Amino acid sequence: MKRTMPASPYVSRINQIDATQLDHEIYEIFRTQSKQITKNIQPGIIDKWQPELDVSIKFLIWYYSLRKGDATFGQQLLNLKYDRFNERKAFFHFLLATLPKYIQERIIDSQYIVISQNNKLKIYFEWTANIIRILELMNLILFLHRGSQPNLIERLLRISSQSAITNRLRNIGYSYMTRELLWHGLIELFTIGLPMVNFYYIKQKLNQLWSRRNVSGKIVNIQPTLNLSTNCPHCHQRPILPRYAGCQHIFCYYCLQAYFTATDTFPCPECGTNLYSSNMRSL
Ligand SMILES: [Zn+2]
Ligand SMILES: [Zn+2]
Repeated sequence: MKRTMPASPYVSRINQIDATQLDHEIYEIFRTQSKQITKNIQPGIIDKWQPELDVSIKFLIWYYSLRKGDATFGQQLLNLKYDRFNERKAFFHFLLATLPKYIQERIIDSQYIVISQNNKLKIYFEWTANIIRILELMNLILFLHRGSQPNLIERLLRISSQSAITNRLRNIGYSYMTRELLWHGLIELFTIGLPMVNFYYIKQKLNQLWSRRNVSGKIVNIQPTLNLSTNCPHCHQRPILPRYAGCQHIFCYYCLQAYFTATDTFPCPECGTNLYSSNMRSL
């Protein structure tokens, strides 16, 4: 149906990117669902046909969105549509969106081509993939500059997103954004901040404050002997790459080095003698 009202040509960049993102998420939802359904089928049977399954999911999505209309589901959610869209472009849209990925998965990744025999063909495919990646990057820069056609396919087909309704400002709930901001800040703290804190060192220092047991700082010059009953005081296994550091106990290299990575000195878990990293010796 053609609208008589002239649609506003300007669509914000973020809306266009969001539409692409939503399309991807819709596809992923179907893909996960199909994996859930086929979960109980003997493994290997479905995996063999995974590329074909992906294509058929894409086909179904395409059939009910772009073939019948002029907007993908992601665009529909954001009130966007393609301008100057027709059936021929819809067909090529589907082809360009599915074929390269299908070729990649079916022919290159599953080693349909025996690599040693067809080295030239593989190099050719890799070059093509690289060129597409470079074109995509250039397209992204163009998109950021001009504000239309975030996908390479759109530029190739000369279609761009337009507002399906009169230009309306995007409503943003600020309470939601604040929550999102706080959440991301928290995640960042956990994933970046916390691994930097040396908890073992802190625990060790606190332990020393509470129980002042056996603080003997002198270097003990003993040579422990390894026999059949020797176990590492940390992991209670036969010491692997045996090392000692001042008491008669023999540690694995990794167990001892892990202690010394956290702190320079620590009490032996068995006898409580303070061990120093500088005293670490092999047998
Ligand atoms: Zn050990
Ligand atoms: Zn010891």
